[in-house]
Amino acid sequence: MDATFATGKELQKMDPVFGQLSFDDHEQIVFCNDKDTGLKAIIGIHNSVMGPALGGTRMWNYNTEWEALNDVLRLSRGMTYKSAITGLNIGGGKAVIIGDAKTQKTPELMRKFGEFVHSLGGRYITAEDVGMETKDMDTVRDVTPYVTGISEERGGSGNPSPITAYGVYLGMKAAAKSQFGTDVLEGKKVLVQGIGHVGEALVEYLTKEGAIVTITDINEEKLYQVASKYNASIYSGEDLYTADVDIYAPCAMGAIINDATVDKIKAKVIAGAANNQLADENIHGARLQERGILYAPDFLINAGGIINVYAELEHYGKAEIMTKTENIYNTTLEIIDYAVKNGMTTHKAALTIAQNRIDLRRIENAKK
Ligand code: NAD
Repeated sequence: MDATFATGKELQKMDPVFGQLSFDDHEQIVFCNDKDTGLKAIIGIHNSVMGPALGGTRMWNYNTEWEALNDVLRLSRGMTYKSAITGLNIGGGKAVIIGDAKTQKTPELMRKFGEFVHSLGGRYITAEDVGMETKDMDTVRDVTPYVTGISEERGGSGNPSPITAYGVYLGMKAAAKSQFGTDVLEGKKVLVQGIGHVGEALVEYLTKEGAIVTITDINEEKLYQVASKYNASIYSGEDLYTADVDIYAPCAMGAIINDATVDKIKAKVIAGAANNQLADENIHGARLQERGILYAPDFLINAGGIINVYAELEHYGKAEIMTKTENIYNTTLEIIDYAVKNGMTTHKAALTIAQNRIDLRRIENAKK
């Protein structure tokens, strides 16, 4: 049930697929290659006990294929637990496309990717993730119905990022209530790392409430644009993990809470959108707990996006999307409570509750 993130040379020492540290009894891993379009993708189906595997497609310029495989294994597993903890009847899957989304993504490549998704007959349903736009999902929709996150004009739920940001905001408020005794974020110092689709919308919620927001991103142009739009400060220190803030919101890439950063963090709450924030769930989750830092499990509080796209499968509307997303607040509090009562980290508590649901469903499925 626990996964560890490995990089570079460490990865290469392991057996290619089933021996990866991130391999966690995944049901199916599909390698997709197309010479004409240059498509190189990996689809990971982690678990389909709760239903077909739903999860976004990430396009990223991975340094090695090992990194891409490791990412899809971790991300697809995360989707299983995210959907289970959120109470959705779907399993966990994810896809990665190896390449630069800015220069290598073409409609032909996306269509070819869609054909691979289609070949799985609905066992995997895709959506957008980093490097993808709603229009890319529309392109995939041209060749397969097994895609969500398509545009509203085409009957889809549109861009999931604002709903994801809303869920992160509510999860952050719940964590603040537990840690600071109040969920009011006015006057709280919040560092948002990554002001992309989700991060920017989160900055909007936070500044509206009167939080003192500092932002950081590798995209300088965006940084200045978002800073001036929401009156946020740009982080100017040497090492952002040492920033003197109350809340740290990682909204860029995963594994940022690792050996090099975990002991530096000064924030008392960590609540952000990035998937797989803990490089090692056991070691870094426990270290945060020892240091008195409350970690709001990423796969729980960033579930707004999956709730949004799931609406396309279940045909429910905006009101139900909002109700389900608002529930993230209560679920976060329940998980913190469970963690305290059972002497475990919040991450472990969320995983345990989700795994219990999956085990129960497996028994029910077997009886049918
Ligand atoms: P995005 O690509 O729109 O934004 C990511 C931002 O992070 C970009 O602005 C990028 O420049 C920045 N970034 C990358 N590396 C960085 C670094 N080292 N330091 C600082 N900034 C860096 O992606 P997004 O859709 O906003 O998603 C953000 C995170 O949330 C991802 O981890 C994604 O998997 C996760 N997530 C997104 C959704 C969603 O609905 N979009 C849902 C669940 C989880």
